[in-house]
Amino acid sequence: MRIPELYKEKKPVFSLEVFPPKRKTNKESIHAAVERLAECRPDFISVTYGAGGNIADNSTCEIASSIKKDFGIETVAHLTCVNSTREDVKEMIGRFAESDIENVMALRGDIVPGENIRREYRHANELAIEIQRMCNDQLQILGACYPEGHYQSESLDSDIQNLKYKIGAGVQVLITQLFFDNEAFYDFLDRARSAGINVPISAGIMPIVKSSQIEKTVQLSGASLPHEFTAMVGRNEHDPEGLYEAGIDFAVGQIRDLIEHGVDGIHLYTMNDPRVAIRVWKGVKDLLP
Ligand code: FAD
Repeated sequence: MRIPELYKEKKPVFSLEVFPPKRKTNKESIHAAVERLAECRPDFISVTYGAGGNIADNSTCEIASSIKKDFGIETVAHLTCVNSTREDVKEMIGRFAESDIENVMALRGDIVPGENIRREYRHANELAIEIQRMCNDQLQILGACYPEGHYQSESLDSDIQNLKYKIGAGVQVLITQLFFDNEAFYDFLDRARSAGINVPISAGIMPIVKSSQIEKTVQLSGASLPHEFTAMVGRNEHDPEGLYEAGIDFAVGQIRDLIEHGVDGIHLYTMNDPRVAIRVWKGVKDLLP
């Protein structure tokens, strides 16, 4: 199924994100995780490509293809371009198309420090153009956006102006980076709409249930932390179980508020942990179509 069509049919679209396991031998673990995640009846599951230090190889294609074939769930395969040659990118797009994958998230990726390759693509919009050129209408294209601005952009407004290049290159749905402050998201949405960006925008939500995630993910994302979030973390500083429960409640509260404000979609960063994803889904499923 073409994901952009889904956004025309229902609101909010509820999607999940998984990543390929670091070791290829852990294939069964991702299969088992997806089997459990299916309980949330997601509209689609997206699979990252080489993110978070994972190796960019064929795993994204294999996992996305299995999500579709083995579980009957629609899928989006992520693809980055900045650390790849044109040949690498073309080969991967060809594999997606051969594997019956219909939706791709076109990303720049993070520049690997010290990596000495000729940069054949500089931005995600160039990858989107390549996909369009190679596949015409066969692959539907999604893209990333940043409610508080991408870390390399001069300002939120210039980031939004740059976002328009992606839309011009054929990106039909945007998914946000994780955020904890819904007000920042609503402000971004107003600015994006005023700038003429009218494609559906799904809100990316990551439940924070462990203190290690605060150090790694939260700080790396650069997302601003509203008082309720820091207070929640502070109250549970020495109580891992308390933080687990409070982190789930926080994500549920955030999603309920977003749905009540008419968000186009919710994209849950599952960190391959079905227990957390299922708990969050149970807390919001009465609001999902
Ligand atoms: P771009 O759109 O190219 O933007 C990067 C910067 O360049 C921004 O500052 C932007 O304002 C500017 N810019 C954009 N276009 C232009 C232009 N034409 N001219 C001048 N400036 C421009 N990373 C992975 O490695 N694998 C993944 O699977 C992955 N999945 C992700 C999923 C989501 C939903 C999100 C939000 C991020 C994901 N990332 C992933 C991280 C992403 O690769 C990084 O955030 C990366 O730094 C930027 O990627 P982008 O596609 O947004 O880049």
